[in-house]
Amino acid sequence: MSLYIVDSTDGGIGAPLSSRRSLSDVDEIAERMTDIWEQAGVQLIIETTARIEASEDILVDLGNGDTASFLGDARTGALLIPGPGTINGFYVSRIGSANGMTPFGTRLFFVADDPSVPDERVSSHEIGHILGLHHVLDDSARLMFSGADGITLTGVEISVSRYAAIGILDGVR
Ligand SMILES: [Zn+2]
Repeated sequence: MSLYIVDSTDGGIGAPLSSRRSLSDVDEIAERMTDIWEQAGVQLIIETTARIEASEDILVDLGNGDTASFLGDARTGALLIPGPGTINGFYVSRIGSANGMTPFGTRLFFVADDPSVPDERVSSHEIGHILGLHHVLDDSARLMFSGADGITLTGVEISVSRYAAIGILDGVR
């Protein structure tokens, strides 16, 4: 897994559309995500943490919840992403009005600055989507309940996420 803080090419660190996070924030989030996923026996190994820069156009789109331009430029290499991992997380100033988002069918997720629930919970919830889990609607103590701070996984969720993780590692998913 690699984690990136996304700044604006127009102004870099501290610019209005740049994330206000620091690399040490992200290192701490990664450590706490690792703890949450340990309950499933899924080990999140950090490959790269870095700051990257995206254009204002891309950041405005992300702010509107539209990930297409980001994904397009990531695919073509127009957006420079050093040392990508199997799963890649991007910490951005805004991602629509959401705390976090995983574009369907991808292995990347976005987390907004100042989410309404703990950072590691948002990031871990998005990892859940990448590992094949969907939302639960009736139990806020669970990781896959949307917009709360629960972190528990059920036996079925542990089986499903482990199965997906093994498939990713084996290159068959
Ligand atoms: Zn979700």
